[in-house]
Amino acid sequence: MTPTPVSKKVCVIGSGYVGLTTAVCFAHLGHDVTCTDIDADRVARLSAGECPILEHGLPELLAEGLASGRLDFSTDNAAAAAAAEFTYLCVPTPQGDDGSADLSYIPAAATEIGPHVEARSVVVNKSTVPVGSTLVVERALGRSDVFVVSNPEFLREGTAVHDFLHPDRVVVGAADRSAAMRVAELYDGIGATLIITDPPSAETIKYAANAFLATKLSFVNAVAAVCEAVGADMNDVVVGIGSDRRIGHEFLKPGPGWGGSCFPKDSRALVRIAEDAGYKFDLLEGVIAVNLEQFDRVAARAVEMVGGSVAGATLAVWGLTFKARTDDLRDSPSLEVIARLRAAGAHVRAYDPSMPDGVVPGSKAAALDGIEVVADPYDACDGAALLLVLTEWDEFRWLDIDALGDRLAERRILDGRNLLDREALVREGFAYRGIGRS
Ligand code: NAD
Repeated sequence: MTPTPVSKKVCVIGSGYVGLTTAVCFAHLGHDVTCTDIDADRVARLSAGECPILEHGLPELLAEGLASGRLDFSTDNAAAAAAAEFTYLCVPTPQGDDGSADLSYIPAAATEIGPHVEARSVVVNKSTVPVGSTLVVERALGRSDVFVVSNPEFLREGTAVHDFLHPDRVVVGAADRSAAMRVAELYDGIGATLIITDPPSAETIKYAANAFLATKLSFVNAVAAVCEAVGADMNDVVVGIGSDRRIGHEFLKPGPGWGGSCFPKDSRALVRIAEDAGYKFDLLEGVIAVNLEQFDRVAARAVEMVGGSVAGATLAVWGLTFKARTDDLRDSPSLEVIARLRAAGAHVRAYDPSMPDGVVPGSKAAALDGIEVVADPYDACDGAALLLVLTEWDEFRWLDIDALGDRLAERRILDGRNLLDREALVREGFAYRGIGRS
């Protein structure tokens, strides 16, 4: 039995994928949480119980937290931090112009709350930050009587709530062991493996974990290219290598490249961190280069399947988000491939289950500029020269082959996720290409 945590007052700054998940899950565990954001509209929607992101289980925990009175939302960082024993920083750390992490949001938030936080309270960095950022927070706070702790987050979008409540590990990096233990106790009730370390190690763990996962994916995509060259079937190869317990089956699926809000920026940031510290991380640079090649390879395969040119052709795309079960388009491989095809003159008509009515939310309009988004997967295929499957949404597996054949101008499918039933499609006269499969 894991102990139930003693209720603490927690402030979470930033109500995005990480901040909102952190806030609702801490409230679920019994803590008293105020979650803030600079976006007043977002705060109003959240206060009304409206969940602004697609994330399994999040609306339910949001409703639970509001109903219990343990969760509220505010735009006032200073007041929320002043009332809390723990203040979590969950603000963005996007990629800067030179590949390094743009750290500006972190000191901005810390400077704002510095004069207001209680003595002996703990400011916790959950954003993914370069090694040494705990010191940046300490300086920005301007307080010697407040503890600063690193507690990186490992959740995956699409399963964020599950991952927060059932993590493989909780990592806490602190110079002061008692502050680390106070942060660790917030997670009582979860029963996760606890790793207590110093701040630079905690910060390095986060970057190294993401870089390793990206490495696995680039490796698999490179092996898929070998499979195509030698006539092997990547689906079987993956089962064969993943069955080795030292390797495992996770993150061994070939695809159109990796993306999302973390891997691209975090792997580039780690290259920079290493470089600034005097180590040239050739391996990780190779991993990034293989990924860019993968976007090119998939786009080139689409052009080849259409007969050498997509200029003036309509192409259907299923899947826009960077992975299934999220509405996040940030650094989506699908958008990378689409950009290459549009640059070659194609018109792209797309369907994505996160926009089931075909209406593009204002916050996503810029990312989807120039792409026709429709409300039905088969409508996307009307008169199209090729269907590309670029995100692994489950519903794509259960496609109606007859309907698809009737709507496409040509029976051609590029299955960028090896998701579909190749044999059934080939039987029905489709030209089918997957990744790493002949
Ligand atoms: P996000 O863009 O979804 O959310 C960040 C939120 O912070 C936004 O709503 C923004 O308005 C708000 N914000 C910015 N400045 C603020 C301020 N001064 N005060 C209050 N609110 C402010 O970002 P995210 O995906 O939640 O990522 C946050 C951090 O967590 C990043 O460092 C990211 O690398 C890391 N991370 C993300 C994931 C993921 O899967 N998204 C997983 C692990 C770690």
